[in-house]
Amino acid sequence: MDAEVIVIGAGIVGAACAYELSQRGRRVLVIDDGPGGATHAGMGHLVVMDDNPAELALSSASLAVWRQWLARMDSSCGYSHCGTLWIAADAEEMQAAADKQTRLQAAGIACALLDAKALAQLEPALRKGLAGALQVGDDGVVYAPNAARWLLAQGGQSSGHTQGISVLHTQVSTIEDGWVCLSDGSKRSAPDIVLAAGLRAKTLCPDIPLQAKKGHLAISARYPGKVRHQLVELGYVKSAHQSSGTSVAFNVQPRPTGQLLIGSSRQFDNTDSAIEPVILARMLRRANDYLPCLGDMHIIRTWAGFRAATPDGLPLIGPHPHQSGLWLALGHEGLGVTTATATAQLIASGICASACSLGGSAYLPSRLMQSA
Ligand SMILES: Cc1cc2nc3c(=O)[nH]c(=O)nc-3n(C[C@H](O)[C@H](O)[C@H](O)COP(=O)(O)OP(=O)(O)OC[C@H]3O[C@@H](n4cnc5c(N)ncnc54)[C@H](O)[C@@H]3O)c2cc1C
Repeated sequence: MDAEVIVIGAGIVGAACAYELSQRGRRVLVIDDGPGGATHAGMGHLVVMDDNPAELALSSASLAVWRQWLARMDSSCGYSHCGTLWIAADAEEMQAAADKQTRLQAAGIACALLDAKALAQLEPALRKGLAGALQVGDDGVVYAPNAARWLLAQGGQSSGHTQGISVLHTQVSTIEDGWVCLSDGSKRSAPDIVLAAGLRAKTLCPDIPLQAKKGHLAISARYPGKVRHQLVELGYVKSAHQSSGTSVAFNVQPRPTGQLLIGSSRQFDNTDSAIEPVILARMLRRANDYLPCLGDMHIIRTWAGFRAATPDGLPLIGPHPHQSGLWLALGHEGLGVTTATATAQLIASGICASACSLGGSAYLPSRLMQSA
């Protein structure tokens, strides 16, 4: 036996699972062929989302765990406790903000409605004439690639009952009962295997229902203090949950470096990582419409990445329905940085056969995958 648990994938989800398992005394081998998937392409907004009760439960539980982990993380992880402003453009969206406030407060999430004047005072760079916003103060942002590295590095230290994490940089070509086969033909064995390989998990388990949702992002040069909160239009939720077609929404994040990270777009059935100028231009026009000063800023880099989406928009967390010893931590779509922490707790509780305060039945892979 090479480890007690093998984790395939060192993105934020695999790293969080490895960290939580090592904290619970498991000896973990993480295998990743790099150079990185969605974790390296995303925004790292730690955000409570409430499109359905299961998403709200997972994201709010995740933020609670993030707060504990972030207290230990170093500055390289780029955490900022900036909060989110959900921007309402008109009276109808203001009603949507009030409805969102009701749902969040019912779940114990502190948030406040801002009128037009209060919004303009908090974020003077926004265009005039917006109706207001919902402020969710405990959301934040993190630099996910470094947070993943930090989590893996902690497992290397012998602290208390931590048994350690070792990392192997190679490709897994197949998974069998209790072992994985690597690209050089060698094998590694463990009684439990966690598949956290993002979108590419389909090459190892073709029955996993994952679909790519392409997203473009752009980052500006440094303009410290121009924006202080993650700014998201309320229409984002509509865009995020479309199940076909192409959409863009205003979503701007102030990085601790003073740069502005600008999103977001969503496209289905497109696995070409090339930048599409038409989509990028549409996304930037939308951002510029809310934040007119963007037109005078320098964009220094643009890129595209892929979210791994499931048919019902919820992740797959738990045992594979007909492969014993195989655990899935997949399909986190546009929320996987946020929900990596509670995912790790659910997976670790399953493997260690211990209780988890978050009920996991809504995320079980068996809901979307037929049993053998
Ligand atoms: C444009 C965009 C914006 C986003 N914004 C946000 C946001 O603001 N907030 C948020 O919470 N989430 C956001 N997300 C989503 C988030 O980034 C993902 O849900 C999350 O990073 C998924 O992490 P992961 O570890 O599951 O997968 P990945 O990060 O894709 O990691 C999978 C890893 O597995 C490895 N791997 C794959 N196959 C193999 C194999 N056969 N052998 C060995 N290794 C293998 C890969 O190399 C990779 O390192 C965004 C995503 C995108 C694309």
